[in-house]
Amino acid sequence: MAGRDYIVFGKPSFAEEEIDAVAATLRGGWAGTGAQVQEFQRAFAAYVGTRHAVAVGSCTAALHLALIAAGLGEGDEVITTPLTFAATANAIVHSGATPVFADIRRDSMNIDPEQVERRISPRTRAILPVHLAGRPCEMDALGTIAQRHGLMLIEDAAHAIEARYRGGKIGALGDVGCFSFYVTKNMTTIEGGMLCTDQDPIANKARILSLHGMSADAWTRFSDEGYKHYDVIFTGFKYNMTDVQAAIGIRQLAKIEGWLGRRREVWARYDREFADLPCVRPASEEPETIHARHLYTLLIDEAGSGITRDQFLQTLHRGGVGCGVHYRALHAHPYYRQRFGFKPDDFPNAFYVGERTVSLPLSPHLTDEQVDRIIGLVRSTLTIRDRT
Ligand SMILES: *Cc1c(COP(=O)(O)O)cnc(C)c1O
Repeated sequence: MAGRDYIVFGKPSFAEEEIDAVAATLRGGWAGTGAQVQEFQRAFAAYVGTRHAVAVGSCTAALHLALIAAGLGEGDEVITTPLTFAATANAIVHSGATPVFADIRRDSMNIDPEQVERRISPRTRAILPVHLAGRPCEMDALGTIAQRHGLMLIEDAAHAIEARYRGGKIGALGDVGCFSFYVTKNMTTIEGGMLCTDQDPIANKARILSLHGMSADAWTRFSDEGYKHYDVIFTGFKYNMTDVQAAIGIRQLAKIEGWLGRRREVWARYDREFADLPCVRPASEEPETIHARHLYTLLIDEAGSGITRDQFLQTLHRGGVGCGVHYRALHAHPYYRQRFGFKPDDFPNAFYVGERTVSLPLSPHLTDEQVDRIIGLVRSTLTIRDRT
């Protein structure tokens, strides 16, 4: 099925207020990095509860800046999960440090603190957990390991904007938290990211690095206060966010908690309707945590379902439902396999999940009718046993 009725995976929602805010920004005569970015940073820092929020062009940029601003580079090792988007490990490589994978737990699909402990070497400088699908990692255990070994803790919170862990906000529990506003994420600025931290030196360095490494005055060099000279103090990047993006972000942030309620509703329906099917549903929310409900994933195992994950994806696509795969394990991708000599079995849990996982649409804007259609199609796809 194509066209109008196709349910696009991760479709964003823009209301008149976002459209008006973009138009007003364009009409305002300044659409670069300015007052809207300042306001978005203030609102996001307040939401996460950190002293600083530095708006950047993507979460990839936020991760890259976080690593460099935290002083990581050549000769350092950063422990992360192999079940993540490429950007997580790519950012480590771009910082000059070496990514070291630690396997996940199969139930939570998040990095296993016991495996982290085993990967620690004299060169380890940081742990970079990813709160996959919106489920908080075991931050107490990771925090204890980080403290014991003197490591930085940098959170990839791309999936976990609304998530909480034991009263603390995800993204505020480590040294730095990185968020994504990519178009499929729980809120979007089309492209965009945020680096959150309580530490002044990290925030200051990240802000300078995000705009060519120019001293802070550069931000105001075109303002109505007259031209100001700037100094280049690092080899920085072009990672700044624009006011057009921030204008959208401010409006989206105000709605995200309400959207979480709808995500929970759809999640609960999926959980009920799929309980009798031959597939693995997501583990339930851990006590004292809030799951951001970014991705509802099923594990499709051919031995149990009589259908492979990829056949399942094809069938849903043909039936007009767009799904995602989050993710095929990174260590099995050509670059990581070749550069580091990994074999699939090196991280068996990540590989197992990566070969079987599929993410169903979970946008808060899905209508009940669309949710019915998705449920009907999943049920019929997983209950037709005779497939010769
Ligand atoms: C989306 C994503 C990123 C990258 O975010 P961008 O804003 O697209 O750069 C990083 N990590 C994870 C886990 C993601 O899902």
